[in-house]
Amino acid sequence: MSPTLAEIRIALEGRLAEEHVELTFHAWITAEEVADPEAGYFVPAPGGVPAPRIVLYRTHVQHPGNELDELLTLAHEFGHYRSFAAGQRTKKYEAVLDPRDAWPTRSTEERQLILDEEARAWIYARSELDALGFMDWAAFDKREVESLHQYRLRLNLGLRGRPW
Ligand SMILES: [Zn+2]
Repeated sequence: MSPTLAEIRIALEGRLAEEHVELTFHAWITAEEVADPEAGYFVPAPGGVPAPRIVLYRTHVQHPGNELDELLTLAHEFGHYRSFAAGQRTKKYEAVLDPRDAWPTRSTEERQLILDEEARAWIYARSELDALGFMDWAAFDKREVESLHQYRLRLNLGLRGRPW
């Protein structure tokens, strides 16, 4: 029998704990309100100090909202951690990431670094969830495609290879 989403969530949080990644929630905010294509974010060293942290946006801090949506967001943010831990978030990438307002002024190559990191985080997320027995790949694929689409728009990169 496949594990439930709740069981997968617990196991995924266990992986965060093993890696000493903090998980916190930012309430009274939604992804739309911060104009962010993700409902959370990853910081390697908040304020310059480890531990790495994942922040998830919630309308109410005690309520996860949609269980599947939040699991996908958490897996994606943990994917950013995996990329960081593997040394794939280069200094060059970190240098162009903030501030977001400056993205339009970045070179195509620099903007591509941001998109590449997003795609990489989804690859890691897929691998993590697969290892935990996750089965709803249609929902995963939809979220991945939509999120990368949003990034392509924001980064003014072509929508090549996409079905719409
Ligand atoms: Zn991301």
